[in-house]
Amino acid sequence: MTLAGKRAIVTGSNSGIGLGVARALAAAGAEIVLNSFTDTDADHELAADMAAEFAVKVTYVKADMSNGSECRALVEGVGGCDILVNNAGIQFVAPVDAFPVEKWNAILAINLSAAFHTTAAALPGMNAGGWGRIVNIASAHGLTASPFKSAYVAAKHGIVGLTKTVALEVAGKGITANAICPGYVLTPLVEAQIPEQMKVHKMDRETVIREVMLDRQPSRQFATVEEIGGTAVFLCSDAAQQITGTTISVDGGWTAM
Ligand code: NAD
Repeated sequence: MTLAGKRAIVTGSNSGIGLGVARALAAAGAEIVLNSFTDTDADHELAADMAAEFAVKVTYVKADMSNGSECRALVEGVGGCDILVNNAGIQFVAPVDAFPVEKWNAILAINLSAAFHTTAAALPGMNAGGWGRIVNIASAHGLTASPFKSAYVAAKHGIVGLTKTVALEVAGKGITANAICPGYVLTPLVEAQIPEQMKVHKMDRETVIREVMLDRQPSRQFATVEEIGGTAVFLCSDAAQQITGTTISVDGGWTAM
């Protein structure tokens, strides 16, 4: 399958799942717009390397997803997109009665409101072209909760609701909106937690992964960024034209429990 001729914006795509999704879309032939709020030399090198590896156009655009105007400017500044992947996200863990207000506001802004702004900016172009794919990276926490993650769980449930609403508004116009709900994915961020968890629990790597980190993931295996990327590419395919307003879990069975 080919996504040649399609432009994809992936928010928060200089690492982890966003980068994995961007690479999968590039491998399928899409033009890629990478984004983060950092704007380092490494970000621009990443874009150049990806362009060379997949022989597609790749640009890097700095935009802070906590700022609604910057979200809209990201989309409008590149001339719109055919594929929009709302991936940027942050996490903070604390009991709800001790949850810092600024952390609540930042998580709601980056993990939820950013998708509202980018979607609003992308839809006019998608409507004009009669084709579009909106893929929101939610989480198993968009479908179920865990203690101490009130803002994250609220934002991820919120993005599932936003996904359904957008899907209804564009139904029958060649545009779909879906949410991927990953369980634990082995990103650099998660990988970095393993040595500390091994120390705290006095366990070897395999045991800490199986018994501590993946205790809610029945497969006892991480999902990979390549698997999330492959799911996003499938949602962009012709075969997925009638898949809209729904969630696809990539969670090793977490939400089946
Ligand atoms: P990550 O920290 O590796 O990546 C987060 C990305 O978001 C980075 O590219 C970062 O630059 C970007 N970002 C953060 N704040 C931003 C801002 N203000 N403006 C623009 N970009 C910003 O984390 P990840 O694990 O790859 O997470 C990506 C998405 O996947 C998030 O929405 C997260 O909630 C979701 N998710 C992750 C897992 C997991 O186990 N890793 C599981 C389920 C869902």
